[in-house]
Amino acid sequence: MIRFYQAANLPDAYLLVDLLDHAGVASQVFNQNAQAGVGELPFTHAYPEIWLEHRYDVHVARKVVDEFERSDADVGTVYCGSCDESNPGNFELCWSCGDAL
Ligand SMILES: [Zn+2]
Repeated sequence: MIRFYQAANLPDAYLLVDLLDHAGVASQVFNQNAQAGVGELPFTHAYPEIWLEHRYDVHVARKVVDEFERSDADVGTVYCGSCDESNPGNFELCWSCGDAL
């Protein structure tokens, strides 16, 4: 396992793990009990961390995080008129079908 990302808070951490899972990347949240002084690994801070099961997933995982951080900028959501998928508000083309939003 390799340490991959430090999330700002636990909901963010779990959301990212879920996104990674959808991308086919196995990951886990550590430090989730850091506030209580209980952890599965030694730690020096209290932020939840995301660890990847496999080092070779790191490039895919990085893209997922990039998307996540971009969408975190509160750009809103637009729904594609063609396929009804939700897209971040700053997208010009639907990520799913490629039609203009
Ligand atoms: Zn679409």
